[in-house]
Amino acid sequence: MSDMRPVLVVTGGSRGIGAAISLSAAHLGWAVVVNYASNRSEADKVVGSIRDAGGEACLAQGDVGTTDGIASIFSVVDKQFGRLDGLVNNAGVVDMPQRIDEMSPERLDRMFRINVTGSVLCAAEAVRRMSTRHGGKGGAIVNISSMAAVLGSAGQYVDYAASKGAIDSFTIGLARELATESVRVNAVRPGIVDTQIHASGGLPDRVRDMSSAIPLQRAGTAQEIADAVLYLLSPSASYITGAILNVSGGR
Ligand code: NAP
Repeated sequence: MSDMRPVLVVTGGSRGIGAAISLSAAHLGWAVVVNYASNRSEADKVVGSIRDAGGEACLAQGDVGTTDGIASIFSVVDKQFGRLDGLVNNAGVVDMPQRIDEMSPERLDRMFRINVTGSVLCAAEAVRRMSTRHGGKGGAIVNISSMAAVLGSAGQYVDYAASKGAIDSFTIGLARELATESVRVNAVRPGIVDTQIHASGGLPDRVRDMSSAIPLQRAGTAQEIADAVLYLLSPSASYITGAILNVSGGR
């Protein structure tokens, strides 16, 4: 079966936006490698739901903030499928609201290691398998940025916003670098989406508190982000590379 289905790696596929992307991708015929860092039971549920619906998926534990973690994820790809057609760089973290003068070097290291270095190194692994320059058949990469890249997150987490700004620049550069190698690279910038990430950053009520500031007057759903990602991965987006799509309810 796996040689028939295109293979997609979703980093941070166990919860929130990544879980919605994994489920939608499987529904559309991708074999999905569902990565997680520590929450195995949630990742198991995603893989179980995909298999129950007749789709194909496997688990890949690995912290994208470490080179060993990234190596593990892509060794699962090679062992289970022996091919790769797409990557969604979705794994990402926020941190507690802090001003710049309170931020520690350790906080910045974690933020940039996971959100930026992790995405760049995962893309490098994907390119080694997908680029026609390396004998691959081509593919697509979608990076998950954030509206924070544009808005700046003053007084909340300017480090997070800057990490997503780096993702935007990386998306543009990598798209141009790979344009003649049959690999398209795009990004999605979610606005405020109802997931557990806000509680993990010490703001469990952020979705409720911010809804009235969003022109569409509500937070987005993980499914609404997944729909945009799956479009950019699909052949319908064959002429789109280097694009950054705001999915933010107008904010
Ligand atoms: P979430 O609910 O907190 O889920 C995060 C996911 O990433 C989980 O699957 C988690 O795995 C995984 N993860 C975290 N650190 C990891 C690491 N070092 N290595 C591998 N996986 C890791 O987050 P979300 O809201 O779905 O966010 C997903 C992406 O969207 C992030 O890049 C985030 O910055 C971006 N985004 C979110 C929003 C929003 O409002 N929710 C807005 C803009 C952008 P475990 O289950 O193992 O912990």
